[in-house]
Amino acid sequence: MKKILDKSEIQKVIELLLELYPDAKAELNFTNPFELLIATILSAQCTDVRVNKTTDSLFKELKTPQDYIELGERELGKRIYSCGFYKNKSKNIVETCRILEEKYEGNVPDTIEELMKLPGVGRKTANVVASNAFGVPAIAVDTHVFRVSNRIGLANSKNVLDTEKDLMDNIDKNMWTKAHHLIIFHGRRICKARNPLCEECPIRPHCLYYKSGGKR
Ligand code: SF4
Repeated sequence: MKKILDKSEIQKVIELLLELYPDAKAELNFTNPFELLIATILSAQCTDVRVNKTTDSLFKELKTPQDYIELGERELGKRIYSCGFYKNKSKNIVETCRILEEKYEGNVPDTIEELMKLPGVGRKTANVVASNAFGVPAIAVDTHVFRVSNRIGLANSKNVLDTEKDLMDNIDKNMWTKAHHLIIFHGRRICKARNPLCEECPIRPHCLYYKSGGKR
Protein backbone atom coordinates (compact mmCIF):
# COMPACT_ATOMS: atom_id res chain seq x y z
CA MET A 1 0.00 0.00 0.00
CA LYS A 2 1.27 3.44 -0.97
CA LYS A 3 2.16 5.90 1.81
CA ILE A 4 1.31 9.01 -0.16
CA LEU A 5 -0.45 9.68 -3.46
CA ASP A 6 1.44 10.71 -6.63
CA LYS A 7 1.45 14.38 -7.48
CA SER A 8 -1.01 13.81 -10.36
CA GLU A 9 -3.45 12.01 -8.04
CA ILE A 10 -3.14 14.80 -5.49
CA GLN A 11 -3.96 17.26 -8.24
CA LYS A 12 -7.03 15.17 -9.11
CA VAL A 13 -8.17 15.15 -5.47
CA ILE A 14 -7.84 18.94 -5.29
CA GLU A 15 -9.90 19.25 -8.50
CA LEU A 16 -12.61 17.02 -7.02
CA LEU A 17 -12.67 19.08 -3.84
CA LEU A 18 -12.95 22.24 -5.94
CA GLU A 19 -16.00 20.80 -7.70
CA LEU A 20 -17.48 19.83 -4.35
CA TYR A 21 -16.81 23.13 -2.57
CA PRO A 22 -16.45 25.88 -5.19
CA ASP A 23 -17.11 28.53 -2.53
CA ALA A 24 -14.70 27.22 0.12
CA LYS A 25 -13.25 30.11 2.10
CA ALA A 26 -12.43 31.20 5.63
CA GLU A 27 -15.45 30.67 7.89
CA LEU A 28 -14.37 33.24 10.47
CA ASN A 29 -16.00 36.65 9.96
CA PHE A 30 -13.66 39.65 9.59
CA THR A 31 -13.41 42.88 7.63
CA ASN A 32 -9.70 43.67 8.02
CA PRO A 33 -6.40 41.99 9.03
CA PHE A 34 -6.68 43.10 12.66
CA GLU A 35 -10.12 41.52 13.08
CA LEU A 36 -8.88 38.32 11.46
CA LEU A 37 -5.93 38.22 13.85
CA ILE A 38 -8.21 38.59 16.89
CA ALA A 39 -10.73 36.05 15.55
CA THR A 40 -7.98 33.53 14.80
CA ILE A 41 -6.48 33.84 18.30
CA LEU A 42 -9.98 33.29 19.72
CA SER A 43 -10.54 30.24 17.51
CA ALA A 44 -7.95 28.06 19.28
CA GLN A 45 -9.87 25.11 20.76
CA CYS A 46 -13.14 26.75 19.74
CA THR A 47 -15.53 26.50 16.79
CA ASP A 48 -15.71 29.22 14.14
CA VAL A 49 -19.47 29.49 14.80
CA ARG A 50 -18.84 30.33 18.46
CA VAL A 51 -16.07 32.80 17.59
CA ASN A 52 -18.32 34.55 15.04
CA LYS A 53 -21.05 34.94 17.68
CA THR A 54 -18.52 36.52 20.04
CA THR A 55 -16.86 38.81 17.50
CA ASP A 56 -20.21 39.96 16.15
CA SER A 57 -20.59 42.26 19.17
CA LEU A 58 -16.88 42.53 20.07
CA PHE A 59 -15.90 44.09 16.74
CA LYS A 60 -18.71 46.64 17.01
CA GLU A 61 -17.33 47.80 20.34
CA LEU A 62 -13.57 47.50 19.76
CA LYS A 63 -11.98 48.68 16.53
CA THR A 64 -8.27 49.24 17.16
CA PRO A 65 -5.44 47.71 19.22
CA GLN A 66 -5.65 50.80 21.46
CA ASP A 67 -9.31 49.98 22.23
CA TYR A 68 -8.31 46.54 23.53
CA ILE A 69 -5.46 47.99 25.60
CA GLU A 70 -7.78 50.54 27.19
CA LEU A 71 -10.44 47.91 27.90
CA GLY A 72 -7.87 45.68 29.62
CA GLU A 73 -7.53 41.95 30.14
CA ARG A 74 -10.18 41.57 32.79
CA GLU A 75 -13.01 43.23 30.89
CA LEU A 76 -11.98 41.60 27.64
CA GLY A 77 -12.08 38.23 29.41
CA LYS A 78 -15.76 38.75 30.22
CA ARG A 79 -16.55 39.43 26.57
CA ILE A 80 -14.70 36.40 25.19
CA TYR A 81 -15.56 34.00 28.02
CA SER A 82 -17.63 31.68 25.81
CA CYS A 83 -14.67 30.99 23.48
CA GLY A 84 -12.87 29.06 26.26
CA PHE A 85 -9.39 29.64 27.73
CA TYR A 86 -10.54 33.22 28.14
CA LYS A 87 -7.84 34.24 30.64
CA ASN A 88 -5.00 33.18 28.38
CA LYS A 89 -6.65 34.50 25.27
CA SER A 90 -7.41 37.92 26.73
CA LYS A 91 -3.85 38.18 28.10
CA ASN A 92 -2.39 37.27 24.70
CA ILE A 93 -4.71 39.60 22.81
CA VAL A 94 -3.96 42.63 24.98
CA GLU A 95 -0.22 41.91 24.87
CA THR A 96 -0.40 41.46 21.09
CA CYS A 97 -2.22 44.79 20.82
CA ARG A 98 0.54 46.49 22.83
CA ILE A 99 3.16 45.13 20.43
CA LEU A 100 1.11 46.20 17.40
CA GLU A 101 0.94 49.72 18.82
CA GLU A 102 4.59 49.92 19.88
CA LYS A 103 6.22 48.19 16.91
CA TYR A 104 3.85 48.42 13.97
CA GLU A 105 1.96 51.72 14.45
CA GLY A 106 -1.22 49.79 15.22
CA ASN A 107 -1.04 47.66 12.06
CA VAL A 108 -0.77 43.90 11.68
CA PRO A 109 2.56 42.68 10.22
CA ASP A 110 2.17 40.85 6.92
CA THR A 111 4.81 38.12 7.13
CA ILE A 112 4.50 34.70 8.76
CA GLU A 113 7.79 35.26 10.64
CA GLU A 114 6.69 38.58 12.21
CA LEU A 115 3.21 37.27 13.01
CA MET A 116 4.69 34.27 14.84
CA LYS A 117 6.47 36.60 17.27
CA LEU A 118 3.13 37.85 18.62
CA PRO A 119 1.77 36.26 21.83
CA GLY A 120 -0.88 33.62 21.16
CA VAL A 121 0.14 33.36 17.50
CA GLY A 122 1.59 30.00 16.49
CA ARG A 123 2.44 28.83 13.01
CA LYS A 124 -1.15 27.87 12.16
CA THR A 125 -2.56 31.26 13.19
CA ALA A 126 0.23 33.10 11.38
CA ASN A 127 -0.45 31.12 8.19
CA VAL A 128 -4.20 31.81 8.42
CA VAL A 129 -3.67 35.56 8.86
CA ALA A 130 -0.90 35.91 6.28
CA SER A 131 -2.80 33.97 3.62
CA ASN A 132 -6.33 35.28 4.19
CA ALA A 133 -5.53 38.89 5.04
CA PHE A 134 -2.44 39.51 2.91
CA GLY A 135 -2.59 36.93 0.11
CA VAL A 136 0.67 35.22 1.17
CA PRO A 137 0.60 31.63 -0.14
CA ALA A 138 0.39 29.33 2.93
CA ILE A 139 -1.23 26.11 4.10
CA ALA A 140 -2.30 26.37 7.72
CA VAL A 141 -2.52 22.88 9.19
CA ASP A 142 -5.26 22.64 11.79
CA THR A 143 -6.84 19.49 13.17
CA HIS A 144 -9.02 19.01 10.05
CA VAL A 145 -6.20 19.57 7.56
CA PHE A 146 -3.93 17.22 9.52
CA ARG A 147 -6.51 14.42 9.72
CA VAL A 148 -7.96 14.65 6.20
CA SER A 149 -4.62 15.10 4.40
CA ASN A 150 -3.08 12.10 6.11
CA ARG A 151 -6.16 9.95 5.60
CA ILE A 152 -6.43 10.61 1.88
CA GLY A 153 -2.68 10.44 1.24
CA LEU A 154 -2.05 14.09 0.42
CA ALA A 155 0.51 13.83 3.20
CA ASN A 156 2.15 11.06 5.17
CA SER A 157 3.28 12.59 8.44
CA LYS A 158 2.95 12.23 12.16
CA ASN A 159 2.98 15.97 12.94
CA VAL A 160 1.56 19.22 11.62
CA LEU A 161 4.87 20.69 10.48
CA ASP A 162 5.72 17.73 8.25
CA THR A 163 2.13 17.63 7.01
CA GLU A 164 2.46 21.27 5.95
CA LYS A 165 5.72 20.42 4.18
CA ASP A 166 4.20 17.41 2.34
CA LEU A 167 1.28 19.56 1.19
CA MET A 168 3.55 22.38 0.03
CA ASP A 169 5.72 19.87 -1.86
CA ASN A 170 2.75 18.32 -3.64
CA ILE A 171 0.33 21.18 -4.31
CA ASP A 172 1.01 24.09 -6.67
CA LYS A 173 1.90 27.22 -4.71
CA ASN A 174 -0.93 29.23 -6.25
CA MET A 175 -3.37 26.68 -4.79
CA TRP A 176 -2.00 26.50 -1.22
CA THR A 177 -4.50 28.86 0.38
CA LYS A 178 -7.46 27.47 -1.55
CA ALA A 179 -6.40 23.88 -0.77
CA HIS A 180 -6.35 24.76 2.94
CA HIS A 181 -9.99 25.89 2.76
CA LEU A 182 -11.05 22.93 0.59
CA ILE A 183 -9.56 20.38 2.98
CA ILE A 184 -11.15 22.06 6.02
CA PHE A 185 -14.54 22.12 4.30
CA HIS A 186 -14.21 18.41 3.53
CA GLY A 187 -13.18 17.62 7.10
CA ARG A 188 -16.16 19.49 8.54
CA ARG A 189 -18.77 18.12 6.15
CA ILE A 190 -17.75 14.60 5.03
CA CYS A 191 -14.37 13.38 6.30
CA LYS A 192 -15.36 13.85 9.93
CA ALA A 193 -13.09 12.87 12.78
CA ARG A 194 -15.12 10.04 14.30
CA ASN A 195 -17.30 8.76 11.48
CA PRO A 196 -16.07 9.77 8.04
CA LEU A 197 -18.94 9.53 5.54
CA CYS A 198 -16.91 7.47 3.06
CA GLU A 199 -19.92 6.04 1.23
CA GLU A 200 -20.95 9.48 0.04
CA CYS A 201 -17.43 10.82 -0.56
CA PRO A 202 -16.30 11.49 -4.15
CA ILE A 203 -12.65 11.21 -3.07
CA ARG A 204 -13.18 7.51 -2.25
CA PRO A 205 -11.54 6.08 -5.42
CA HIS A 206 -8.28 7.88 -4.53
CA CYS A 207 -8.34 7.75 -0.74
CA LEU A 208 -5.69 5.56 0.92
CA TYR A 209 -7.68 5.37 4.16
CA TYR A 210 -10.69 4.02 2.29
CA LYS A 211 -8.61 1.60 0.23
CA SER A 212 -6.96 0.26 3.38
CA GLY A 213 -10.34 -0.40 4.97
CA GLY A 214 -9.81 2.32 7.52
CA LYS A 215 -6.50 0.93 8.78
CA ARG A 216 -4.31 3.83 7.70
S1 SF4 B 1 -13.19 8.25 1.52
FE1 SF4 B 1 -13.60 8.48 3.71
S2 SF4 B 1 -11.61 8.78 4.68
FE2 SF4 B 1 -11.37 9.13 2.47
S3 SF4 B 1 -11.62 11.34 2.21
FE3 SF4 B 1 -13.61 10.42 1.90
S4 SF4 B 1 -14.61 10.47 3.90
FE4 SF4 B 1 -12.41 10.81 4.23
